[in-house]
Amino acid sequence: MRLSALPAFEDNYIWVLREGRRALVVDPGEAAPVLAAAAEGLEPAAILLTHHHNDHIGGVHALLERWPGLPVFAPDDARIDVECERVGEGSRLRLLDHGVEVMAVPGHTRSHIAYVVDGHLFCGDTLFSLGCGRLFEGTPVQMLESLAKLAVLPADTRVCCGHEYTRSNGAFAAAVEPGNAALGARRAEVERLLAAGQPTLPSTLGSERECNPFLRCEVPAVRAAAAARLGREPADAVETFAALRAWKDVFRA
Ligand code: ZN
Ligand code: FE
Repeated sequence: MRLSALPAFEDNYIWVLREGRRALVVDPGEAAPVLAAAAEGLEPAAILLTHHHNDHIGGVHALLERWPGLPVFAPDDARIDVECERVGEGSRLRLLDHGVEVMAVPGHTRSHIAYVVDGHLFCGDTLFSLGCGRLFEGTPVQMLESLAKLAVLPADTRVCCGHEYTRSNGAFAAAVEPGNAALGARRAEVERLLAAGQPTLPSTLGSERECNPFLRCEVPAVRAAAAARLGREPADAVETFAALRAWKDVFRA
């Protein structure tokens, strides 16, 4: 399958995964980029939604006007007010002759889900490159469990996140783990990509495991950074995670 990212709004990506001309469209927060791609030959086969925030679902109604009956898959949440099939943890779909696995990943929102298709992880606002989503509706325990579920996917899994936040996330990650050489290399790569006008995504799960502090709460250097922030040793990985997330919420590079 062939992946592309359609930029939307300031820093969102609408992910498009094609088999030939037919495509899965993930989180179309606005319709215009998808309609423009359609003018160049894209034929949507289905829409996959990760969570109810408008920057991820706002374009769906307009796309359904253009393609009546287009299948839409979404978490079971009344705030997603569209004709759709509700999916959740363990749901398995078959789309464009590929298996699609659904995982529940609450934390950013309580009903957030992620999709795995042909080695691509569509994780919305749960996992970002070098960061993770804010805890709008979930607890640190939930988010850490959700991230742990994603973290065990194969290292070459392509991480397709909802936002281009990698540069600012990288500044925070470096504040947490200044001695992480893999992180330094990733940040340099990010600068090269952005200077060339390219997305920094997809990332790979292997890279995120090496560089993303939120997947590294058990690593001594990350734990030590959380301890310095807390003024005492964190009791466990959850406390480490909670300290990092609270720090990130107020961090300015
Ligand atoms: Zn969101
Ligand atoms: Fe978002």
